[in-house]
Amino acid sequence: MCGIIAYVGDRKCREIIINGLKRLEYRGYDSAGIAVLMKKNSKKNEKQAASENYSINIAKQAGKIAELEKLINDTHIDGCVGIGHTRWATHGAPTQINAHPHMDCKSKIAVVHNGIIENYAELKDELISKGHKFISETDTEVIPHMLEEFNNGDLLIAMQKLLKRIKGSGAIVALNSDTPEEIVAARISSPLVIGIGKDGNFLASDMPAVLEHTRNFMIVNDFETIRIKKGSIEIFDIDGKKITREPFKVNWSITSAEKSGYEDFMLKEIFEQPFGVKETMRGRLSEGILDFKEIDLTSEQIINLEKIHIIACGTSSHAALLGKQLIEKWARIPVEIEVSSEYRYKDPIVEKNCLFIAITQSGETIDTLAAIREAKSKGARIVAITNVVGSTVARESDAVIYTHAGPEIGVCATKTFTAQIIVMYLIAVYLASKTGRLKEENIQEILGELEIIPNKIQSILNNAEQIKKVADQLYKYRTFLFLGRLFGLPIALEGALKLKEISYIHAEGYAAGEMKHGPIALTDTNTTVVGIVPKDSVYEKMLSNIEEVKSRNATIFSVATEGDTQISKYSNYVFSVPKTIEELYGILTIIPLQLLSYYIAKNLGRNVDQPRNLAKSVTVE
Ligand code: GLU
Repeated sequence: MCGIIAYVGDRKCREIIINGLKRLEYRGYDSAGIAVLMKKNSKKNEKQAASENYSINIAKQAGKIAELEKLINDTHIDGCVGIGHTRWATHGAPTQINAHPHMDCKSKIAVVHNGIIENYAELKDELISKGHKFISETDTEVIPHMLEEFNNGDLLIAMQKLLKRIKGSGAIVALNSDTPEEIVAARISSPLVIGIGKDGNFLASDMPAVLEHTRNFMIVNDFETIRIKKGSIEIFDIDGKKITREPFKVNWSITSAEKSGYEDFMLKEIFEQPFGVKETMRGRLSEGILDFKEIDLTSEQIINLEKIHIIACGTSSHAALLGKQLIEKWARIPVEIEVSSEYRYKDPIVEKNCLFIAITQSGETIDTLAAIREAKSKGARIVAITNVVGSTVARESDAVIYTHAGPEIGVCATKTFTAQIIVMYLIAVYLASKTGRLKEENIQEILGELEIIPNKIQSILNNAEQIKKVADQLYKYRTFLFLGRLFGLPIALEGALKLKEISYIHAEGYAAGEMKHGPIALTDTNTTVVGIVPKDSVYEKMLSNIEEVKSRNATIFSVATEGDTQISKYSNYVFSVPKTIEELYGILTIIPLQLLSYYIAKNLGRNVDQPRNLAKSVTVE
């Protein structure tokens, strides 16, 4: 799950590639590298290989892009055709040798790759028996050697042959010093886009990487191969037949892909939530009218639905849990949640009148993709919820609902979670309205509340300083329990996940009533309990649960409702959110928990945008 960027054109590519890699760093950041085609006889530097007129100059380094930048600052690596990679290791340690690009034996072909070559061991043995020499431990290195085997002067044809031999996933981009005017690429499962520039063309794992150069893009589909030159783009299908494809324009601004003055992407993205939530509702809900055709089901199909399955991982699975509660309560349709990574191995049952909803921020989560493929093969109808237009899950589903939260760069999901929650609210109300199982006055109340939710989120953010003060006290604790009931439970789970992801503090999210069946044993003076205690139908129960942990000397931080006069008696710290209806408290109570995690992690000096061991989109199993 790395980041790839490539450029061919009139401009010097070094800066284009380094800047693009910085934007892609969230996809993987254990090592990075660059390969540039240079005319021979230009000044020699760290690695240079002979060819007719051009040679490939490579620089790679373990660590972040900044390390690579330092390395190449004093070199003459520069040219107008180049590729770059930021790695998240799957095969082989994150060392300089294992960093991409990788090369063939003659150092004429350089390759960057995102994904896993599942049959690499077998291919490597075969290549070694033919005399190829390997220097890294990666699966990727078989690619340049195979291209070398297959190359009869046209690297694109070699790439097409390669696709027929490899198993697994990959976005592959390659240079050949014998054909210095072109870059060749292929895609199986991993994301890849083509950026169309005025003075050259780009390839990248995602659009923000090249947004400062172009807004015009083309998507690459699975098993397609690509040849880009300064003034041309060619796309070929699996049989090598040329395809025509229309470009599309994105309206993301460059600043939306940058920090806009915030200290970290995560903080910026937390503060973008009032806007993100509005964007998600835009065109779907306006003045009490819900227009939600994207789900693409007739009223009759909805009425006949016997079950809904929601497939998701991580944060998306917490949106799924809230979605289950809402759909069951309002539309009275039973919902099952399936963890994507488990789903396809259990010989799942796909009922006749059922609907599958797949939630994935990136639309590239490999486990979710595999799960929908499994469900589809058994006849399921899939509706995808994702933030990324044109992503693989979006394209492989029968219907897509985009969350429109804008690009999320921080590894930890924040604005995409609240956007997913909004979609769950809208779906649940929509299904309820079609089944007629919720009264019109209730529907109107919910929709009315949803329309003013962005302002309520804003008012919470205006009090972020209060949360910072709480975090300044709590960051020293080493165990956190997040407790919630009913609609507060998914929020407790998500709050705990946020804290562990970015602060590395042990945190558990739990159904408050379950405490006494085990976790209460953890509670002592070293424990902080975060209670989600809005004024809802389980408020009194939550108070009792908070009382239980307080009497065992835990420190209590409660997220409660404005005007609650009792809660401070039970809590060391209280943060209040505005009043709303009980099902909607989730989208308000998660905001202070995101901020709490952020400020605790900052107190501990953590890198909140790039937490250790994590990557933004999980494109390997
Ligand atoms: N499997 C390759 C490696 O370990 C690529 C991983 C990635 O996508 O960054 O080098």
